[in-house]
Amino acid sequence: MQTKIKIIPIILITLFLTGCGSTQNTVQAEEAQTATIFAMDTVMELSVYGSETLLDGAESIILALERELSVTDAESEIYAVNRDGAGSVSADTAELLNRALELCARTDGALDISIYPVVRTWGFTTGEYRVPDSEELRALLECVDYTRISFDGESALSLAEGMEIDLGSVAKGYASSRVIQYWKNNGVTSALLNLGGNVHALGTKPDGSAWRVAIADPEQNGYLGVLEVVDQAVITSGGYERYFEQDGKTYWHIIDPDTGCPAESGLISVTVVGSDGVLCDALSTSLFVMGLDGASALWNESDDFEAVFVTSDDAVYVTEGLADNFSPLGDYEGQEATVIYRA
Ligand code: ADP
Ligand code: MG
Repeated sequence: MQTKIKIIPIILITLFLTGCGSTQNTVQAEEAQTATIFAMDTVMELSVYGSETLLDGAESIILALERELSVTDAESEIYAVNRDGAGSVSADTAELLNRALELCARTDGALDISIYPVVRTWGFTTGEYRVPDSEELRALLECVDYTRISFDGESALSLAEGMEIDLGSVAKGYASSRVIQYWKNNGVTSALLNLGGNVHALGTKPDGSAWRVAIADPEQNGYLGVLEVVDQAVITSGGYERYFEQDGKTYWHIIDPDTGCPAESGLISVTVVGSDGVLCDALSTSLFVMGLDGASALWNESDDFEAVFVTSDDAVYVTEGLADNFSPLGDYEGQEATVIYRA
């Protein structure tokens, strides 16, 4: 049987919109230094107002993290732990692992970094897509349970028999936070990172106005809307990012750890906004699994993120804190986004 495969790697485009009409009498802003690199299986765009060495430093941070965290690179720390069932990890991996485990617990397992054997079986890491049968999934799910990961919090990591981990749901968010911190430590006050759709803004645009970050329309190539942000990460997970179709059904790369199947929660896109890249990356994936009600409930008891949700009937919801920062675009311009208020 023929399997149709389609991958859309870029989900979010940043808009650099100029301020209105103030070209005269303003000091010419410093030029942005920009670079495009391919890392962590995606295209990354770096843009920083400052010296060129800041770009090189950022690239080094990202590439070093990729070498430690990759699940497919036989030289990586994570690969070694998956192969051997145990091992010691470096300080960066330890920091991310601690954060990821904390977020697995906070989302009650909707995020589960031990989902990797299931993700691989569906072919999402190799591109050899196939639909596993329920017996195969049941056997794989026996090894999925983040509470059975033993980590001493510093370096010693060991996994239960048959278990393998994957930090792919949080790695880009961690990389963006690390680069932003490095730039801040070096005096940067204006920069924008787009790590394959994971956008992270440092400060404001050079003219002092907010960065405008467009969110992809999950149904097509245009945009859903634009968010104005200062010093925040804007991270989207959607079923349209990586998927395949078979027998008229679409299967995407965000897996519900309860079923081992692509999450069908009624959401088709989740964007999480906050100052912590790891948190936003972890939540964009797991709120997608939880669905609108579960995600809203988690937001209601939290104070460290805001979100934009799109449901499968194309309705848009924004949490209270973004109500004034979100403007719909394109096909969504006609409809008012529903604001979710704190209970
Ligand atoms: P992307 O990396 O495409 O931006 P996400 O941040 O949403 O997307 O992460 C999706 C990746 O995380 C998948 O490719 C898969 O490797 C892994 N993953 C899928 N479902 C889960 C889950 N429930 N918990 C943890 N990781 C997951
Ligand atoms: Mg994520």
